[in-house]
Amino acid sequence: MNPEPVSQRSSDISWSRPQDWRTLLTAVQRPVCHEPRLKSARNLAADIRRELSGIFPVLDGLCHRSCPWCPDPCCLNARLWFDIKDILFLLLTDQQPCSHRNQPCRYLGGRGCRLPRLRRPFTCTWYMCPTQKAILRQEGDLPAEKLLSGIERIKAMRKQLVSETGTEKFFYRLP
Ligand code: SF4
Ligand code: SF4
Repeated sequence: MNPEPVSQRSSDISWSRPQDWRTLLTAVQRPVCHEPRLKSARNLAADIRRELSGIFPVLDGLCHRSCPWCPDPCCLNARLWFDIKDILFLLLTDQQPCSHRNQPCRYLGGRGCRLPRLRRPFTCTWYMCPTQKAILRQEGDLPAEKLLSGIERIKAMRKQLVSETGTEKFFYRLP
């Protein structure tokens, strides 16, 4: 069988069938958790964790100033899933990936997201709605630059996680 890139098969990338999610986790978890040569990947994941911790206070501030009064919360309409990079990051920082469900997001509670920021899909971290972008602009150039450059560094390191762990093959459709 010739695998098809998931980018061309958007219905496959959300692991919406429970058996796909289980297959993926089993396939990724074993080599990632038990392979000693992955020390550099673990170090990289620790760097990502540090970068994330650096931008969370800014994101918390933005959320604090916008989300409680939001007339149309984005999480109600979000179609989210944990992608391979999310899963790698969680496993390599000894966190258990949550099982996947989408629309409406199962992690949305009465007071916002029930997941700690560190365990959310990365999309939930970098996404900024127009209201938050406007607030960020009011803060001036420096906080915006700091936040956006942090996000760019994290994106680059997440890509590197894939090559460090040799998990490119999981970007193809599961058998
Ligand atoms: S991030 Fe923006 S759209 Fe989403 S809940 Fe907060 S204010 Fe609303
Ligand atoms: S994981 Fe949390 S932040 Fe992301 S869509 Fe779900 S409720 Fe919103």
